[in-house]
Amino acid sequence: MNFSGKTVLVTGSSRGIGAAIIKKFASYGANVIINYINDYDSAIKLEEEIRNKYKVKSLVIKCDVSEEQDVKRMFHEIEQVFHSIDVLVNNAGIAIDTTFDDKSVENFKRILDVNLIGTFLVSKYASKYMLKEKCGKIINIASTNGIDTLYPESLDYDASKAGVISLTKNFARALAPYVNVNAIAPGWVYTDMNKEISEEEMDAYKKDILLNRIGTPEEIANVVAFLASEEAKYINSEIIRVDGGELK
Ligand code: NAD
Repeated sequence: MNFSGKTVLVTGSSRGIGAAIIKKFASYGANVIINYINDYDSAIKLEEEIRNKYKVKSLVIKCDVSEEQDVKRMFHEIEQVFHSIDVLVNNAGIAIDTTFDDKSVENFKRILDVNLIGTFLVSKYASKYMLKEKCGKIINIASTNGIDTLYPESLDYDASKAGVISLTKNFARALAPYVNVNAIAPGWVYTDMNKEISEEEMDAYKKDILLNRIGTPEEIANVVAFLASEEAKYINSEIIRVDGGELK
């Protein structure tokens, strides 16, 4: 795959799946924008790594995707360096798992703000550039939790991801025929988001996966790159599960 000359923004990309997506695009020659909220050191380390390895242009920008003023400032910064955005990956996300009884309005709202409003805001501003160029790709990182792997401990997260799936389809309509908007629904993936889950619990989850293992960030990044590529140009308004074959 070749993305040279293309500019790719990945939200929440200082670590985990986002960082794997940045590495993947940089390895295919894309210029990349690494967005972080508070982990400056990891973002800069990632930038150094890809600059040394792939000699691509890059930018590191602090931005809370749930804050409109922050998002506007991020695009202002991007505009100073790159003319446009070719690919946006809405990856930033949070989960605050608690018992059903401990669920609070405050946490619920924060999860919706980051996962759902954040996806809306960044897509809204990025799509202005894409429509001007009459082309672009938006890929949202949803979750199988937004479809059918439901947990009362993460009911707020699950609702936010169902919202992301709905947003994906509405954005695809709003931006047609110029911008392809798709989502990926990963199953379990080894990242910091799951670091509180014990090995025993993970082993139990694995039993419900046909491949009998948890996914890796790279396996998600591979599908993101495919969806952003020329080869996938007839895929639009679609939700692709990448879950190793979860048994429902
Ligand atoms: P992660 O916690 O390592 O990554 C999430 C990233 O989002 C972090 O870098 C975090 O700093 C950033 N972020 C959080 N709030 C932000 C904000 N307001 N503005 C900007 N950035 C913000 O976890 P991950 O597993 O790499 O998650 C990446 C995406 O994949 C998330 O959307 C997550 O919901 C989704 N996902 C993960 C799994 C999994 O099992 N790990 C499964 C399905 C979907």
